[in-house]
Amino acid sequence: MRTLRTVAELRAALAGERGRGRSIALVPTMGALHEGHLSLIRASRREHDVVVVSLFVNPAQFNESSDLAAYPRDEAGDAQLASGAGADILFAPSPDEVYPAGFSTTISVQGPLAETLEGEHRGSGHFAGVATVVAKLLTMVLPDAAYFGAKDAQQLLVVRRLVRDLDLPVEIVACPTVRDPDGLALSSRNRRLSAAERESALGLSRALNAVACGITAGRYRDRAAAEAAGLAMLDLPQLTVEYFRVVDAGTMAPAERLTGDLLIVTAARAGAVRLIDNKSLRVESFTPAPDNEPVDAEVATLLA
Ligand code: AMP
Repeated sequence: MRTLRTVAELRAALAGERGRGRSIALVPTMGALHEGHLSLIRASRREHDVVVVSLFVNPAQFNESSDLAAYPRDEAGDAQLASGAGADILFAPSPDEVYPAGFSTTISVQGPLAETLEGEHRGSGHFAGVATVVAKLLTMVLPDAAYFGAKDAQQLLVVRRLVRDLDLPVEIVACPTVRDPDGLALSSRNRRLSAAERESALGLSRALNAVACGITAGRYRDRAAAEAAGLAMLDLPQLTVEYFRVVDAGTMAPAERLTGDLLIVTAARAGAVRLIDNKSLRVESFTPAPDNEPVDAEVATLLA
């Protein structure tokens, strides 16, 4: 595996590969690689001839300078992991290479897709920062396919929208969320959690699973009841919930009914660490549960 730092080097390396008819995959990351990232690299390795992993902590998508400053960085460790998972090229540009002096173009994704949930809590600049850097990486690498994790569900939809709206000739491939055995979704930020914060953070996947079971079982009258049950379960020490919502999986709009392709999405801070997670579910039809058990009792049963 080679580490390249400039767009010129990257284009030179890939031109020959493309000329020989070899397919190219891109896995964009911000580094501090874990099994979630590696699952994307392995999937792209199985399906393409040349795998490029980009490593760039994108300042444009951070709304808090403290979060950007605290973001874990370990390029040497990342290079080893990426190479072990099958990457051919690690593209690790400097901020100046990506945003040269005078940089003044931004891609803004408008409408509820980018303005709710993460867009609302991280500010409207967040998805503009994501869309701009993803568009740049796609035009730098010109891959046949780019791989993204379902863990960042709203980001995935924003990227799909970007690619469709700008007619970018690339296939967007989604890979499932990788979790620790106890259910915590892997995240580069998890390494900043204390033991107590991690324990509370586990509540996120538990609440998502419990509410998904409750929805499937027809336990909730409506979306508000499902969300209230989730929020009640997330009343945990050191955990400050930003949102727990049931949305349409295709648009991120609040689910009007508890049927169809749904996504339950949540974000919370465990201490100073901001975490997100989600669970997708397909509900064919809504059949109210036969008894009138209170929701909290049901949730307690699901958790037991
Ligand atoms: P990041 O480095 O956090 O920007 O993530 C880079 C890519 O890895 C994104 O497409 C993420 O959705 C994906 N990713 C992050 N965590 C996970 C995970 N636990 N499982 C699967 N993919 C993940």
